[in-house]
Amino acid sequence: MREVTEEQLRACFVNATRRELEQLPMPGLHETIWDEREYLGWRGERSSRIGYIVHWRGDELVGVVVRAAPGGLRPGIAAMCSMCHSTQPATQVRMFSARLASLDGDTGSSIGTYLCEDLACSHIIRSGPPHLTSPARIAARGAALLERLERFTARVERATREARGG
Ligand SMILES: [Zn+2]
Repeated sequence: MREVTEEQLRACFVNATRRELEQLPMPGLHETIWDEREYLGWRGERSSRIGYIVHWRGDELVGVVVRAAPGGLRPGIAAMCSMCHSTQPATQVRMFSARLASLDGDTGSSIGTYLCEDLACSHIIRSGPPHLTSPARIAARGAALLERLERFTARVERATREARGG
């Protein structure tokens, strides 16, 4: 992923309300290893259910605000993240929903998806035994992950626009 600035982050969200933007917690951009990321994902304060997902679409930075469903999946089962397609213990995958909101408010609708609970798919696909994490395999998984994510954020963007009637 190409590096981003705080200013770019503030301007990139397609479904953030004014209040969410005012309270946007900044991720640690200086500590980020950009070469090892397909997208930037981070969560709000500890008690917050909000998460943020940002990626480049060509030269355009696209961000979506998501909200973790209250209560996790049933422990003891396996679950799969819809973006990185990693199968993990259910406690590490959550249902998140992107509300179709604009600066001035919420339309009441949302689009849901299962995501790694800490929004760190890029880290997940780089962890594991060597035969699963060769450079070629990581590149392929990374490309597929980004493609799925682009589809998701484009869907949120389109539906938000439609919900607002334009
Ligand atoms: Zn994931």
